[in-house]
Order: sequence, then structure tokens, then C-alpha cells
Amino acid sequence: MNFDRLVTFPGSLPQQMDALWARQAAEWPRLANGLASLHNARVNSFNLNGATLMVQCNAARIVSTGAKIDAASIAARPCFLCPANLPVEQLGLAYGDRWLILSNPAPIFDPHFTISSTRHEPQRIMPLTGTILDLARDLAGAYTVFYNGPKCGASAPDHVHMQAIKAGVLPFERELLGELYAREGWIEWLRDHPVRVGVTRAPRRPAIILAGRDRDELVTALTAVVERLGEVHPADPEPMLNLFAVYSPEVWLVYVFPRFAHRPACYGTGPGQFVVSPGSIDLGGVLIAPRPEDFERLTPEVAGGILEEVLLPQDRFTQLREALAG
Ligand SMILES: [Zn+2]
Repeated sequence: MNFDRLVTFPGSLPQQMDALWARQAAEWPRLANGLASLHNARVNSFNLNGATLMVQCNAARIVSTGAKIDAASIAARPCFLCPANLPVEQLGLAYGDRWLILSNPAPIFDPHFTISSTRHEPQRIMPLTGTILDLARDLAGAYTVFYNGPKCGASAPDHVHMQAIKAGVLPFERELLGELYAREGWIEWLRDHPVRVGVTRAPRRPAIILAGRDRDELVTALTAVVERLGEVHPADPEPMLNLFAVYSPEVWLVYVFPRFAHRPACYGTGPGQFVVSPGSIDLGGVLIAPRPEDFERLTPEVAGGILEEVLLPQDRFTQLREALAG
């Protein structure tokens, strides 16, 4: 592997990640600063259409939220996920033969990992679905894996990566697990075999839920979701989505937020604008606002409106539902 700061720890993969995080938090000032920013972050919590939406004012996130990801800007900067460009203090756990598990120095949760390829290849969902499921299984329900599409929150759209946070920390995931047990009725199940496929009912945020025990059947079902989404809302370089996967004993739970836009129309630093650029975590119920002046103006209506604008509109989500049910 083309990275010379690999470390190993005893125990399962989640235990090794916990140990990596503890060591890096103790030894790497940039991560310590990122953690201080996280722990000093102000947080608001709203109820929006029955779902919890938190807003986190985390100054350290400005680098990601404000990232320029147009082709010219990407071409002009050294790739910060290529092994040769990683900070000298950064250590990595090897996962398989091509993945590095790295501590995220601007965490939104404690802990927060980036799982980055050792090869410089673009961020694409289709070749990655099996890897996401394998990683979720190996994280054994301790961590949830997620993927930001190249125009859906990824600040390195040119270098394939995933992220991981503790399972159950996201409001949407907690609400989803509650729904699976209590059946409050905000998910409409479209099919049961070989993979359970469901969609959220309005006014909940549009999401597709998949659950199954067979990895290859799940890959097939996920591929179909991506393809149908690409028909309902064609986009370059791939259908727009954010995707999460978590494994509880012998069952994968995958949830996908279909996207319509990269950033809201109000994105920017001018008067009346907001430096808010939703990715997976935002859609999972924790909206990140690095600037205090934005945080203070993010009422439930404004925050909900921003998420609605970047998510697939209800009429297209209905088309997607029909395509998945057919
Ligand atoms: Zn790279």
C-alpha cells in the first residue's frame, strides 16, 4: 500500500478505529482543534414534519462547506485525499488492499472517519455499492457508513471516499429504527423479496429504504435505485444521492436520499445568503452552519426549505416510487 504511516491495533475493526481516533485526538493538534470546535459548537434542535432537525454551528467545517468543487478549482489544487498529500501527522488503518481509514480532522461527530482509496479515482456510487456493504458488515453495527455523491456534499469529488460515524447518532437513523419496530406508518413498503424496499411518505423527507440479508441481492437492488433515479432526474456525472448503510445482526439497512440540487439557491456569502451545503449528514438530520450569522438566521422554515430545495421534489419522488414498485 502506497502509504507509510499505517498503524495496527488489537481487536475488531470498530475497536481498532476507536483506538486510532483516541491516539490521533491525543497527538494531532489539528484534530484536537477540530474536536474543540465540535464540542464548542452551538446546536439548535427543531421538529420538522415529525422529524428532528438539528443545526450545528461548527466553525471548523468552513473548509468543507465552503469548498469550491468546480472542475477548474479541483484541477488547480493538490488532491488532499491522495496518500502523498495527507498531513504528516495523519495515521491510517488499512482496510482491504486499497482503503485507508483516516480520522477526519474537522469532525461533525466524535468520532468521524474518512475511508479513502489509495488510488486517485473519481467519486462514483456504482462501483462502490459492494464495498459500502462490506465495510458496513465489518463495522458490525458499531458504525454507519455513508457516501456523498460528487455533487451532493463531497468536497473531494475527484477522489473516491466514504465516511463513518457511530451508528445511531443521526436523528434520521434513530427515527428509522424506531419506525421499523413501532410501524408508525411513515414508510410505505413497496416489496419484500429478495430485498425489502420502502419509501418515506410526505411530509417526511424523501428517502428510499432497503433492508436485506443477501449482499448480492442488495447490490442489485441498489443498482436499480440508482438507475431509476437517473431516469427520473438525469444528472452528470451520476444520479444525485446521499447513501447510508448500517449492519445489525445479519441484516443490512440502507437508506438513500435522492437529490435534485447540489446547493440551495441561497448558497453564498452575500447579504441574505447562507454558507450551507448539504451532504449526507445534513439530510440525516444535522444541518451544518459554519458561520454564526447563518446559524442565527436558520429558523425551522429556512432550514427545512434548504433541505427541500436540494432533495428530489415530491412529484419526481412519486415517479421514482412508481418505478421502484413496478
Ligand atoms: Zn487524490
